[in-house]
Amino acid sequence: MLEGDRVKLGRNKLCWCGSNIKYKHCHLNRAQQTPLQSSVLHKELNRFNTDKKCSAPSILHDKCSKKIVKAHSISKSSSLKEIAVDGHVLSFFMAQRSKSNTNLEPIKVGINKASIFNGFCGKHDKELFSPFEDQPFDSSSYHCFLIMFRTLSRELFIKESVKGTFGLIKEMDRGKDLDQQKYIQERYQYLNGNNDLTISDLKYMKASLDKMFISKEYDNLEHLIIELDSPPRVMASAIGGVNLGFDGSLIQEISQDPKCIPDYLCINSFSSDGKGYIILSWLTEHKISNQQLIGTLMNSHSIPDSLLMLIISRIENVYISPLWWDKLSNKNRLNLIELYKSDAVQDTYNDALITTVDYGAFDYQCVKYLYN
Ligand SMILES: [Zn+2]
Ligand SMILES: [Zn+2]
Repeated sequence: MLEGDRVKLGRNKLCWCGSNIKYKHCHLNRAQQTPLQSSVLHKELNRFNTDKKCSAPSILHDKCSKKIVKAHSISKSSSLKEIAVDGHVLSFFMAQRSKSNTNLEPIKVGINKASIFNGFCGKHDKELFSPFEDQPFDSSSYHCFLIMFRTLSRELFIKESVKGTFGLIKEMDRGKDLDQQKYIQERYQYLNGNNDLTISDLKYMKASLDKMFISKEYDNLEHLIIELDSPPRVMASAIGGVNLGFDGSLIQEISQDPKCIPDYLCINSFSSDGKGYIILSWLTEHKISNQQLIGTLMNSHSIPDSLLMLIISRIENVYISPLWWDKLSNKNRLNLIELYKSDAVQDTYNDALITTVDYGAFDYQCVKYLYN
């Protein structure tokens, strides 16, 4: 079978896999090659821990301090500490990465390691975020901007780090038969293409936020602030495009056209000064779908539980209070694990955000809008 394909393709033609390399230098004899070593894979998967750069606006880079620090995307002292038990919170994502944990029960992670990324130099991590890290969050457009700025910086940092991992997926078909080679190359094209699209969207938004930072004008953002009476039992920080409303209705089609940037939503759930906040933020130019999404949230019979569904189903950068998790019924725990598994990769789970269960993750107090 493989022989026949070889003859058909021609050794000097470009390879079928889309690499733009001649077949003879690419997939010819791929089935006979030595499979990739797991140590190589492991190293590449950990690249996210070793990549380093400062995400402050480039105009400030001449003032960067030498050392890139492990920046928390969710504050350790004011947020994670509030829900930790013996310095640990729970994480689904870490469970997903551990081979032995096949049922995806969230596992313990130390708060020094939770939510960190090597995305700011020491000076800028301190200077940029101390207004809400060292003082209580004040719901101002400035504080909301800073939180979105950090979230966006992290997402871009991670998407760029992950790119190296995708390069490796492309090589994972060594030693496999032609059908498997084709399957792996298709997966690579899909994942890498999506990741590239997201990187270009995030860079566009980052440039916009960098400008706001420099000009100190934060009017091109809109925020919905949900105040909680106590620290949220589930803390999260992420940005992405949401396509379905809280009633399961279609809010926006996420297209594969690089020129067509979807409306992105930034989500943060954290605590400050003993209280809790969930903040949904977006660029004003992304308001159409996001305001529609908020409309479906306001119509939901339980705003806090709907938000929990959104956070668990769409976000990986999520940390859970061990005490709260342990108190949930077995059924509710399983529901949440299933919801995490269902995630945004496949949108067949149309009613993912609808729930009638009271999970008690957030002590809801009131909603504030920061629209222009
Ligand atoms: Zn090839
Ligand atoms: Zn810096």
